[in-house]
Amino acid sequence: MRKPVIAGNWKMYKTQAETRAFLAEFLPLVAESRDAEIVLAPPFTALAAAVDAARGSAVTIAAQDLHWEPEGAFTGEISARMLVETGCRGVIIGHSERRQYFHETDETVARKVRAALDAGLRPIVCLGETLPEREQGLTEQVLERQFRGGLGALTPGDFSSILLAYEPVWAIGTGRTATPQLAAAAHAFLRGLASASFGGDKAASARILYGGSVKPGNIRGLMAEEEIDGALVGGASLDPASMAAIVNFREG
Ligand code: PEP
Repeated sequence: MRKPVIAGNWKMYKTQAETRAFLAEFLPLVAESRDAEIVLAPPFTALAAAVDAARGSAVTIAAQDLHWEPEGAFTGEISARMLVETGCRGVIIGHSERRQYFHETDETVARKVRAALDAGLRPIVCLGETLPEREQGLTEQVLERQFRGGLGALTPGDFSSILLAYEPVWAIGTGRTATPQLAAAAHAFLRGLASASFGGDKAASARILYGGSVKPGNIRGLMAEEEIDGALVGGASLDPASMAAIVNFREG
């Protein structure tokens, strides 16, 4: 039985004060939730505030990116050990906005995943095709390239420490969600790749989250698919009530 994970990616939203206000409202709404692991990923500047405000709750905090070197002359970058010091426990890697706007490649994803694992952070590794790629029938080819390029060098033990997020780029921030069936088919394909690379047991226990315009109104349909093990939520994670409704999807 794979425990679902509901993760919120706040992108470049929320100051420290806004983060504290969010958690003050959100934590009571999820205090009784037992059905899903809850992760929030604020911007770097609000990580420590989020860790502090979430202390004693079931919510864990993740960053949205990292650099693979432990330190060095890399202006503007943040390393895994700096993230660990804030108290955060995970890190999103390879988000499509990083790939699209900041030249993230499968090679840098692989380096970042290695650095995160070595520091004891759980990577949430994002993969997904663009609309032209889907329309040209290239979805599986793209997922396979991203999977092999980003995760191909891992050991089976490493693989069991990561979360995967299937995020079709055309569904992110567009209000256009993949149908549960379409998402489940992509998840099944990714699980097949995991099985071929890391073995059937590791693949069967891997948690693959869906991301792309997840809202309180569509989470139940998505989670009804056996292949879907949770969600990576962008826009809807910024509001405490809507994020709580997604976390509490079984009650909806
Ligand atoms: C995301 O940023 O990972 C995401 C899925 O965004 P949204 O939910 O807003 O589509």
